[in-house]
Amino acid sequence: MFYCTKMRYNLPMLKTISGYSPHLQSQVRQLIEQNKLGDYLFVRYPQVHAHSTDRALYAFVQEMKNSRLKNTAPLSKVLYDTKIKELNRALGMHTFVSRVQGGKLKAKNELRISHLFKNAPEAFLRMIVAHELAHLKEKEHNKAFYKLCVYIEPNYHQLEFDTRLYLIYKERFGELYGTNTTGRQE
Ligand SMILES: [Zn+2]
Repeated sequence: MFYCTKMRYNLPMLKTISGYSPHLQSQVRQLIEQNKLGDYLFVRYPQVHAHSTDRALYAFVQEMKNSRLKNTAPLSKVLYDTKIKELNRALGMHTFVSRVQGGKLKAKNELRISHLFKNAPEAFLRMIVAHELAHLKEKEHNKAFYKLCVYIEPNYHQLEFDTRLYLIYKERFGELYGTNTTGRQE
């Protein structure tokens, strides 16, 4: 079983941007203090996606995989996981299980995405899926890994940062998006 220690839901979430430049971090603090973090996010990401069932998620992941990582092992299961947040606070993980079945060694790849991405902008979902798909080929968070992330999703780095901001927002202020509409929760 594999999950990223990098993409975790650490509390407080503000800690998760400690690797970025001090200037960027102070800008984020300012946005929070001036109560403008929600605006920052909402202007850039006004809508949540419609891939909210496991079935829709599977199709979404499969399409990304086919367009960029066609030659990687097939995924046997793709689902939103409500437990990984509580167990290890991972935002996403993939599990690789090998079993002997009928005298043959069968490997199974499963991809789990935190339920935090269920009611979220599509761009953030794309980021976490790109991250997990890249782990199919590269386990470490090294240069080759990030090259792969950017190959799958060209805006990867900005989206990873903005996803962290989104989670900071959720932690401090609650939901940014309404659950039944694509509009903003007031
Ligand atoms: Zn990772």
